[in-house]
Amino acid sequence: MQLLFVESVFLKSINECDLVVVGAGMAGLAAAAQASAMGKRVCVLEKSGGPGGRMATRAKEDGCWDHGAQYFTARSTEFRAQVQQWLDAGLVAPWREPIAVWDGEQLSVSRSRERYVGVPQMKSPLENRAAGLDVFYHTQVTQVQQSESGWAIETNQSQWRAPNLILALPAPQSQALLPAGSAAHALAASAIMEPCWALLLDVERPLNLPFAAAFVNDGFLSWIAHNNRKPERDTGECYVLHATAEWSRAHLEAAPEFVQTMLLEEFMRVLAHWLPCQQLPPVHVRYVHRWRFARATEHDAPAAAVLPEQGLALAGDWLTDARIEGAYCSGVAAAVGLCG
Ligand SMILES: Cc1cc2nc3c(=O)[nH]c(=O)nc-3n(C[C@H](O)[C@H](O)[C@H](O)COP(=O)(O)OP(=O)(O)OC[C@H]3O[C@@H](n4cnc5c(N)ncnc54)[C@H](O)[C@@H]3O)c2cc1C
Repeated sequence: MQLLFVESVFLKSINECDLVVVGAGMAGLAAAAQASAMGKRVCVLEKSGGPGGRMATRAKEDGCWDHGAQYFTARSTEFRAQVQQWLDAGLVAPWREPIAVWDGEQLSVSRSRERYVGVPQMKSPLENRAAGLDVFYHTQVTQVQQSESGWAIETNQSQWRAPNLILALPAPQSQALLPAGSAAHALAASAIMEPCWALLLDVERPLNLPFAAAFVNDGFLSWIAHNNRKPERDTGECYVLHATAEWSRAHLEAAPEFVQTMLLEEFMRVLAHWLPCQQLPPVHVRYVHRWRFARATEHDAPAAAVLPEQGLALAGDWLTDARIEGAYCSGVAAAVGLCG
């Protein structure tokens, strides 16, 4: 046993490429695809078992829940072009259902904004993108070190050497890897990322709400979505609830059982306003999820922090506007800045 352990420590393979990208969310995969198109040998290291990051879906036989990002918009020319490719490939679809805003007294419903979702899951376009790249899953980067010959990247199961490195992670996770005292470390430390508790439910009978989702500006829920009213999500009566950043921060270390009880009660309270005089059907909690680093608060930063002389770039939504489009643009900017 002892001998086997010693061997596994010393036999960690050393791999080489032109660019290592850490993180297979929207920013990391956009960066990797861009650098790859520029002729670089790129490897992506991802700690979880699949791509997508915060564009996440929990899928079961009897339902699915997008528990991270809910939809995206496309404003810039470059992201609109990318979204058009995904639309043509059937990887995203417009979400044209009415969305409401609830202020505690009134509901205003509109379908004016152009919104898109991945189909059949939020992460679908990223799964497709990752399939064309060298992505190593279950590979958590634990240390990065710079030397004269480039970057040495240590993971839970391998070692990597590359002249260029892109960290496409939420700011605190980049900060944890960067050398203390460096400009990149200071930049990452300057971003504040708010948490979000999410509750995934199914409801025994249709609620027949006159909208598919609502921004909630009353109480401690911020968003309620009927996931089945997104395209290609037919099974079940699946609902996703998000708590506000303030409530999530105040209850960051609370037990999941407490969180689920509180969010469920709040959901029932809001539903009683929306569906007065109705017997509400039984609701079943399917999953509770804590996003520790859900979204960055606004701060001044470049779209991507590129330090070409160090062969280093930082990317991620926290460098832009805390949205999917921002993550995409940041990833592309990091790759162009580093490899161009
Ligand atoms: C609850 C919630 C709701 C949201 N709603 C919306 C919305 O409606 N519209 C919208 O546009 N945006 C929304 N967002 C934001 C959107 O999800 C993000 O802007 C976008 O997905 C960020 O992509 P990213 O690549 O920057 O980061 P991430 O998606 O977080 O990707 C980072 C990746 O790095 C991996 N990783 C972390 N540490 C390591 C390590 N040490 N080694 C290896 N891998 C590592 C992670 O597993 C992850 O896959 C929402 C986010 C949340 C959480």
